Amino acid sequence: MRRLLIVIGAAAVVALVVSTVSGAPFVGVLLALLLGAVILGTGWFFLRSFATPVPPPPEPGTLRRVKLTYRCPVCGAEVRMTAADTEDPEPPRHCMEDMELVAPID
Ligand SMILES: [Zn+2]
Repeated sequence: MRRLLIVIGAAAVVALVVSTVSGAPFVGVLLALLLGAVILGTGWFFLRSFATPVPPPPEPGTLRRVKLTYRCPVCGAEVRMTAADTEDPEPPRHCMEDMELVAPID
């Protein structure tokens, strides 16, 4: 809330200077600056959400041993998963698609 007041105050000061120097209407310059600040803040918010770091990998002892085979429904490639954080992990992706569970191997 305090940051918002600081931004509005700074925009009002800049708008006053710009409108005095250029002769443009004060309200128009102020609205343009505030709109620019809103757009910049929105973009900054989304950029920060992209920059959120990935959580650290689990401890080696907490991983479960699994033997699952997955097949890619597009190209037919198969992979075997030998460790996962749960007994029913999410399938890996290949060719932009979720791979299909073939059969648990005992
Ligand atoms: Zn594939």
